[in-house]
Amino acid sequence: MPVVNRIAAFAPEMKEWRQHLHTIPELGVECHKTAAFVAERLREFGVDELHEGLATTGMVAIINGQGDGPTIGLRADMDALPILEATGVEYASTHEGKMHACGHDGHTTMLLGAAKYLAETRNFAGRVALIFQPAEETGGGAEVMVQEGMMERFDIKEVYALHNLPNLEQGSFSTTPGPIMASVDTFHIHIQGKGGHGAMPHETRDPVMAACGMAQAIQTIVSRNHMATQDLVVSVTQIHTGSADNVIPDTAYLNGTVRTFEKDVKAMVKRRMGEVVAGQAASYGVEATLTYDEGFPATINDDAKTEFAADIARDVAGDAHVIADQTREMGAEDFSYMLEKRPGSYLFLGQGASAGLHHPEYNFNDDIAPVGASFFARIVEQAQPLGGK
Ligand SMILES: [Zn+2]
Ligand SMILES: [Zn+2]
Repeated sequence: MPVVNRIAAFAPEMKEWRQHLHTIPELGVECHKTAAFVAERLREFGVDELHEGLATTGMVAIINGQGDGPTIGLRADMDALPILEATGVEYASTHEGKMHACGHDGHTTMLLGAAKYLAETRNFAGRVALIFQPAEETGGGAEVMVQEGMMERFDIKEVYALHNLPNLEQGSFSTTPGPIMASVDTFHIHIQGKGGHGAMPHETRDPVMAACGMAQAIQTIVSRNHMATQDLVVSVTQIHTGSADNVIPDTAYLNGTVRTFEKDVKAMVKRRMGEVVAGQAASYGVEATLTYDEGFPATINDDAKTEFAADIARDVAGDAHVIADQTREMGAEDFSYMLEKRPGSYLFLGQGASAGLHHPEYNFNDDIAPVGASFFARIVEQAQPLGGK
C-alpha cells in the first residue's frame, strides 16, 4: 500500500498550494494570509467545522467520519523564518526578509492534502481534528493552543506530526520511541563592573575578565556536574563587551542555550548556572544578573503510538524506507507541548539531497507532499477503522 492513489491524483494541486504558500511567508503568530488561504481550502473541501483564531492565526478543522469514535489530532505548522531567500525559484518569497526555510509551507500542504482526501472519502470512525498552528519557530504557538484548552475543547485523544528532513532519503521516514527532540532553555547574563583606563586596571572592576571566567566555568556544568551517560549541551553563544583598545568597559553580556531530555537535568543546570554566575561574580568583584528562560520541553514520543505510526509509515513507504529507532536530536520542536498532553508521535519525512533547514537556499521538495499526506490519511483510517478494530 504505497501512496494513496487518490492523493497522488491531486499532487499537482498540492504543488500549487505549496508554491503559493512559499510566496507569502509570515512570522510567529502573524500568519494572516497563510491562515486565510488554509481556511479557504478547508471550506472548499467541506470540512464539518472550522474553528479559527486559536493562538491568533491558528485553527482546528473537524472532519466527521462515519459512526462513533474518538478524535485523532494531526498537526502542521504554518510559520516561516526571518531569512532573506536565496533559492532563485520563480515562486520565491514576496515578503522580503522572510522565507519558508524550514518547510512549514510543505507541512501545511501535506495536512491540506490529507484534509481533502479525508473529507471526500470518510473511511474512518470518529472524528479527525486538523491542527494548523502558527509560531513554531518562535512564540510557542503549540503551547498557546494547548493553554487555550484545544485538547479538551475538541476532545483530542492522540496527536501526530511530521517534519521534513534534508538529506534523509526522499520519501522515507525516521522516528524513535521516547525522546526524539531536546528541550531548549536560554540564559542571559548581564555583568555590571566598573570601567576605566585600560592602563590602570587596578582602578576598575573588569567585566571582561568576569565574562571570560563565566564562559569557562559554565562549561564545568556539563563536564563536572553532569552524569556522562545522559545527553546535555550547554553552549555560550554570545559575549558582547567593550568598544576601544584602551578602555575597560563598565558592562559585559553573555548568553547561550541549554539542550537536554530530562527534567531533572534541566533543573540541575538551572540551579548550577545560578551558583556559578553568583560565585564567579563574587570572585571578580562584579555584579551579575542571570535570566534563565525555560523554553520548549523535550519532544517525547509515546512508545505504542510510535510503533503504530512506524507501521503506517512502512505501509506508505515500504519496510526498507523506515527507520524506527533513529538517534535522538538536540534540536527542539514545540509539538512537545501537545505530546505532553496527549500520547502521539513525531516523525521525520526525508526530502532527499537538499540545503539544510534554516538555510537561505533550502526549499521543500514537492515530490514528498503526497507521501506525507498519505501517511496522515492512513494514520486516521487505521487508528479509527470503520466497524472498529
Ligand atoms: Zn525550523
Ligand atoms: Zn520546522
